[in-house]
Amino acid sequence: MNMQKKDQPMNVNDPTPVRTKPWAPVFLSSEEFGEEERESLMNVLEKKRVFRFYKPDVANSEARKLERLYRERLDVEHCLVMNSGTSALVSALIAAGVGPGDEVIIPAYTYIATASAVLIARAVPVIVEVDESLTMDPKAISAAITPYTKAVIPVHMKGVPCRMDEIMEIAEEHGLVVIEDVAQANGGSYNGKPLGTFGLAGCFSFQQFKLITSGEGGMMVTNDRKLYKRASIYHDSALAFWGTEEENIDVPSFPGENYRMSEINAALGLAQSRRIDQLVTKLRQVKKTIVDGIRDLPELQLQTIPDPEGDVSYVLIFYLKDQETARSFSDQLRLEGIPNGTIFNNGIADRHLYVNWEYVLEKRGISDKDNPWQSPLYKGNVQYDKEMCPRTLDLFKRAILINLHQQLTLEDCDDAIRAIRKVARAHRDDT
Ligand SMILES: *Cc1c(COP(=O)(O)O)cnc(C)c1O
Repeated sequence: MNMQKKDQPMNVNDPTPVRTKPWAPVFLSSEEFGEEERESLMNVLEKKRVFRFYKPDVANSEARKLERLYRERLDVEHCLVMNSGTSALVSALIAAGVGPGDEVIIPAYTYIATASAVLIARAVPVIVEVDESLTMDPKAISAAITPYTKAVIPVHMKGVPCRMDEIMEIAEEHGLVVIEDVAQANGGSYNGKPLGTFGLAGCFSFQQFKLITSGEGGMMVTNDRKLYKRASIYHDSALAFWGTEEENIDVPSFPGENYRMSEINAALGLAQSRRIDQLVTKLRQVKKTIVDGIRDLPELQLQTIPDPEGDVSYVLIFYLKDQETARSFSDQLRLEGIPNGTIFNNGIADRHLYVNWEYVLEKRGISDKDNPWQSPLYKGNVQYDKEMCPRTLDLFKRAILINLHQQLTLEDCDDAIRAIRKVARAHRDDT
């Protein structure tokens, strides 16, 4: 490998960009579409069966196979596939008994769907700071607990595992339900244990932007039989109408939303999920190569990764010393041929940062009559404003994000390293 060495001279004033080839941005998931996906989908068409519970042979539906695959991968008792990650979160919250009057702690940095799921369950989201890992700061959870706190949703953002040991300890001490949002971290782990298996439930998404896709889709996983049965009911239309794996536990029926996954989506998800380890292995090699090549630069502070071995590794994030530096660093890096995002060019924050969750900040429910903050059952007094998480905002103002993908070669990694080093050197000479 022809890696740029730190002691090698580099002309930082050289106007020739380090890289001129495109850094082809790809969806990690659909980029892989190939013969396996085609066969899997054709198989569904040939069976003329798109409803997973259509008899006979329900046990061999594509949806069932997809659930089995994850039961084995994650070593959990129950997996329930659904039509989206949002549906999985809503079902987990409802199944866990979260509802009007309850507060649910969520991080300031997550996709807005996490907050929406809490509100759809008619509970109130409480927004807390993230730390240098850009995942929930455990200390912020402790500080946000009130008599009304029922649950906490750690979100493994951008494939980075949360500090699950500390979070579980706090949750146990205060009797809180933990529901992990694993939408962005399928394939990740913390201390060797798969993400999604720490809390009472874990919720995955198979939307196209995620590591693997089923078109649209999601999944709730749990070791709790009752939770599984309640989620099965809620994800169907009032009963677990068509049957579940847990026939022998008596849970009363209640209205459901019909969040079922179709066989078409399941077949796609199945073909995709079979290559998850291969995909993650490749991404980890790419990220490690780049990180090793820039680790010594004093200008950059790399994102803290609570467990680097468990990082899904499709994004590289580092912080600069201040907002101005981040902005100019980002612009120069782009001129060197490495696309990157910051809070300023909308590459990173957008709907993933609480300041842009307008209806939450304004406490707007589904209607005036149906507003969790105004429920007579809600005795708390949560407040929001755009400045409420200064630490999170400071991190984002200084952060630069580079999307990685499975097709990056060693040469591409070398380009990224040389470009980052060149821009860092230019900044060093400026000051
Ligand atoms: C994508 C995403 C969701 C929602 O998943 P959908 O399948 O799009 O409904 C929830 N949380 C996070 C962190 C996400 O990135």
